[in-house]
Amino acid sequence: MIKPLIETAKALTRKRFTTEYPEERESLPDDYRGMLKLDIETCISCAACERICPNKTITMVDIVTEKGIKKMPQIGIERCLFCAFCQEVCPPKCLTLGKDTDVFETYDKRDLIKRPEELE
Ligand code: SF4
Ligand code: SF4
Repeated sequence: MIKPLIETAKALTRKRFTTEYPEERESLPDDYRGMLKLDIETCISCAACERICPNKTITMVDIVTEKGIKKMPQIGIERCLFCAFCQEVCPPKCLTLGKDTDVFETYDKRDLIKRPEELE
């Protein structure tokens, strides 16, 4: 009977494990892989990223640019493995893994599907 009370008292006096996110943030390692970034200006719509993606995370979708309608990658980041295969095969190197983590915070899974315009 006394043991649970002792454990409760210990838990109440123990230092918190969590941080006050987003004010406090963990530092990320140099090789951390975060949200993908796309440079729409240099993408050549080759779809190499879509073909190589092992988890079928990338879908080529239409977007309207100054040069007309072009196909560009849309990313379902909730399925991304952060393997960087898409970055490696991209001929103009316009699709790159960044360090942004803020985009992963959402209450709605649909927010994690990012259109090309949202990847800039
Ligand atoms: S990092 Fe890997 S899993 Fe994520 S979109 Fe690129 S190829 Fe697909
Ligand atoms: S992001 Fe790169 S690999 Fe993907 S369609 Fe554009 S140019 Fe091709």
